[in-house]
Amino acid sequence: MLYDLLLLGGTVIDGSGAPRMRADVGIIDGRIAAVGDLSAAQAQRSLDVAGLIVAPGFIDSHAHDDFAVLETPAMAFKALQGVTTVVNGNCGLSLAPLVTQAAVPPPLNLLGDAYRYPTFAAYRAAIEAADPAVNVVAMVGHSTLRVRHMGTLDRAATADEIEAMRADFAQALHEGAIGLSTGTFYPPAAAASEAEIIAVAAPMRECGGVYATHMRDEGDRIVPAIEESLRIGAALEAPVIISHHKLVGQANHGRSVETLALLSQAAQHQDLCLDCYPYAASSTMLRPERIALCDRIMITWSAPHPEVSGRDLHDIAGEWGCTAHEAAVRLQPGGAVYFIMSEDDVQRILAFPDTMVGSDGLSKDARPHPRLWGTFPRVLGHYARDVGLFSLETAVHKMSGLTALKFGLTDRGAVRAGAVADLAIFDAASVASPATFESPAEPPIGMRHVLLGGRLTVENGTLTGARGGRYLASSLVVTSAG
Ligand SMILES: [Zn+2]
Repeated sequence: MLYDLLLLGGTVIDGSGAPRMRADVGIIDGRIAAVGDLSAAQAQRSLDVAGLIVAPGFIDSHAHDDFAVLETPAMAFKALQGVTTVVNGNCGLSLAPLVTQAAVPPPLNLLGDAYRYPTFAAYRAAIEAADPAVNVVAMVGHSTLRVRHMGTLDRAATADEIEAMRADFAQALHEGAIGLSTGTFYPPAAAASEAEIIAVAAPMRECGGVYATHMRDEGDRIVPAIEESLRIGAALEAPVIISHHKLVGQANHGRSVETLALLSQAAQHQDLCLDCYPYAASSTMLRPERIALCDRIMITWSAPHPEVSGRDLHDIAGEWGCTAHEAAVRLQPGGAVYFIMSEDDVQRILAFPDTMVGSDGLSKDARPHPRLWGTFPRVLGHYARDVGLFSLETAVHKMSGLTALKFGLTDRGAVRAGAVADLAIFDAASVASPATFESPAEPPIGMRHVLLGGRLTVENGTLTGARGGRYLASSLVVTSAG
């Protein structure tokens, strides 16, 4: 047997949660051909990975890289973390299907402003043409469908509009979309009823797919919001993914005890999971009404005032001689980081068995939340190694095997013979993210090599220029198109 590439002397953490083991990995034609003692094997090339962990390439369960994979296909901020696949189309926002020359309403502008894909197939073709350094799967965003079919958004959809959205969604499933996401927290979909969402998502009853939701409320009314999400999933007979689960506002800190108990209970009779990013601050569009809930707000971008990016809203208000609320209105449109959660909740949610790691990173921001560059090394280095929140094996599982299972990504998220050779190879002792709120665009340390389909996209911590990411099919979606 002649291998294309041999990874020699490493310690394999296979993504299943199983304990690590000393093993070499042999790769042929982009797939893992053998895992074990291959010290006597022949190969075109061998890489000494002694002292390093060989893990499945990480799957970012919650990405907003819809436009980024087209515009910045090198995807440095993800590839350097060991991410080999991103799940796009979260929070009700997807680039397709929507064509508009007009400015899109927030938060659709968080993705970018190039809404030019009339079908999901057109978006998928653009990904293949861009040849990004990560694989991509994507959901269709319910808010994107609303913008496409409704003139005004502050109302329920009519029967005709629901039918048009449903038809678009059915077509997208046939063209490779892996489900529907909603963002009823945000203005474009806040007026959508539970019945509207179930009707638009109805094609999932036949074709499968996942239902992911940025819920209506992550604060005082989080329990009714979770209950609604579970009812929608049950009505669709679809797996539910609670996006970036968190409790916002001091009055709700600690309530993850209650929400996780509710979700554990529901998981006994319905398929569900959560995603979570490893920080106690959130980031999204600038919303003046959130000010009262936060300990601190940092502006990430502002169209009329780009010079304030990275600054504290209250400092800006002080200089301008106005209230923080007035300053937030004057900075629109813009984005912000909200210091709005408790660390105890973040840790409890991350440690929950059905929680996947997802970055929720926004690459377009002038001063992004550090989760964009740091999510995966921070979970490995800070939470698993330094805090001891869970084992390294569990951390890897939450960013690979569990995620592949929940999104139906067959032959990914595992280090085993037959799986695709998407791999992240890192030093467990030093892996970390130096990215901070003040200086967020810092590449990770300790992430040594990354392989995508058997090719090194990162070698010795540096992008090689190799890309080759593809749009992946999900085994959860079954259509006549295959
Ligand atoms: Zn969201």
